[in-house]
Amino acid sequence: MNTYLPFSKPTIDEATIDAVGEVLRSGWITSGPKVTEFEKRLSDYFGGRPVRTFNSGTCTMEIALRIAGIGEGDEVITTPISWVATANVILEVGATPVFADIDPVTRNIDLDKVEAAITPATRAIIPVYLAGKPVDMDRLYAIAAKHKLRVIEDAAQAIGSTWKGKPIGSFGDFVSFSFQANKNITTSEGGCLVLNNEAEARLAEKYRLQGVTRSGWDGIDVDVLGGKYNMTDIAAAIGLGQFAKLDAITAQRRKLAKHYFKTLGKDFEKQTGAQLPPQDFESTNWHLFQIVLPERITRADFMAKMKEHNIGVGYHYAPIHLFTLYRALGFREGMFPVSERVGKQIVSLPMFYAMDERDVERTCEAMREVLGVAV
Ligand SMILES: *Cc1c(COP(=O)(O)O)cnc(C)c1O
Repeated sequence: MNTYLPFSKPTIDEATIDAVGEVLRSGWITSGPKVTEFEKRLSDYFGGRPVRTFNSGTCTMEIALRIAGIGEGDEVITTPISWVATANVILEVGATPVFADIDPVTRNIDLDKVEAAITPATRAIIPVYLAGKPVDMDRLYAIAAKHKLRVIEDAAQAIGSTWKGKPIGSFGDFVSFSFQANKNITTSEGGCLVLNNEAEARLAEKYRLQGVTRSGWDGIDVDVLGGKYNMTDIAAAIGLGQFAKLDAITAQRRKLAKHYFKTLGKDFEKQTGAQLPPQDFESTNWHLFQIVLPERITRADFMAKMKEHNIGVGYHYAPIHLFTLYRALGFREGMFPVSERVGKQIVSLPMFYAMDERDVERTCEAMREVLGVAV
């Protein structure tokens, strides 16, 4: 019997484990020199833009909204197909989430529908790069400029992704990344925010730590309501070890994605009625390899049958607007039909750095059997 193949698994090398041990032995285990070093490395990678780290890729977005002064009475446009964090942060700052349906091919927010959703109360857009695939960044920022909107990029899944050769995060407005355990690089939990200037970075530092304006106990003051969102040196040591491998991780994932397409063959969609992701080996980091199942099989059934083959399958994501919290705000079935159709049938196949081509082949064989296609 084959060993269990999960849909995602972090790879932490021995040097990183040693570096964590060093932090633990050093006597300084909260935010310190490792955090500063990690922020410096990230800033270099993002073309010198200011970067601050946090304990999640959720508070990054909440803080970006606060820095932008967005709150009660303001509308923020986002996608229904994301982790619920993306919409929760809008509610967290007291603003109103407005959903725009997705494009069925990229599964990202449809920018035509974003434009249609803009009202005089709209202040920002939070696009999500699902599976690491960016939206049309030129068009996104043209819309934002035309309507004077802020952009908080939910690039939680997109570290290593690019747009016309430039890393996501190296341009644009606020860009938020997550280093949660399943992301392409991890700090176990954590995140970072790329900002526009030092004034915003200073504000981010305040929101990160109780609104405190100065370090040191002399002349300490608090002038905004901040939270407790700092990254520890333990996490930053993991991040530094992971970040050193970013290019190798992205290259491996692209190789595995290519192998999925090759192994499934060009007739797979016709044979099964399933929908593959767009073949993109330039811009996306292949955080996920997602297919949309045909209607004749339920997602639960597919996942259970793949599990019988010892293969883990993930689900990213249930449409946010249909959660109880969002229904209570008036959202209903039928409002975002593409998100609802895709959200019902989308699954994530195994995709992680330590996987090999044989794992891809195993997954494809199992999938053909489960979907009832002759191998
Ligand atoms: C992981 C993720 C988040 C949240 O990041 P955390 O670090 O878990 O807070 C937000 N949005 C998307 C699209 C994600 O994948």
